[in-house]
Amino acid sequence: MEENKQGLLIVLSGPSGAGKGTLCKELTRTLPNLQYSVSATTRDPRPGETEGKDYYFVSRERFSELIRQNQLLEHAEFCGSFYGTPQAAVEQAVNQGKDVILEIEIRGAEQIRQKFPQGVFIFIVPPSLEELKARIKKRGTETEDKIRQRLDKATDELHYVSEYDYVVVNDQVQTAVEKLKAIITAEKCKVKRRSVEF
Ligand code: 5GP
Repeated sequence: MEENKQGLLIVLSGPSGAGKGTLCKELTRTLPNLQYSVSATTRDPRPGETEGKDYYFVSRERFSELIRQNQLLEHAEFCGSFYGTPQAAVEQAVNQGKDVILEIEIRGAEQIRQKFPQGVFIFIVPPSLEELKARIKKRGTETEDKIRQRLDKATDELHYVSEYDYVVVNDQVQTAVEKLKAIITAEKCKVKRRSVEF
């Protein structure tokens, strides 16, 4: 039986502060065939973020140009900044059999669902809204106003969980990572993803 020729396209969404970033880092660190899709954004870098690793930090003009040139697989505005997934890198990796993980908000995920219905859509939720608030505050990188905006957005985003294939509660990072790995393994075993001729 042949191995899958195409890699999986995995989309991780969920409210800001749910811990998607930590989970993605842990997954890409431990799964050699998994590649993180680095997004372009117009937001300012946070302390410790690296250009080309966490994001491609671009001006609004450059972002508009990327849209005009059809270089983004999806894009959306989030709390006053723009975010988008560079198309070429994702397509190239998936076609080479690499699995790719996108950490994006819900409207971007919807655009991916239209283009790649074979994608794996996973929603990450925090154990509670109180915990979410505590995590965003602890990060200490947002102003009070931005924290409020992100919390409002989080409450709104939680309604979209039913659009996803899987939901993972990020209570303990290691437990959540194990669940995500189990999902990836199961998806790879799906008959419809494999050539079943003997
Ligand atoms: P943050 O500013 O906290 O890094 O990200 C804010 C939100 O934008 C998060 O929900 C994150 O998942 C989302 N995001 C990051 N990159 C992209 C992207 O390329 N496209 C879309 N649609 N959302 C993104």
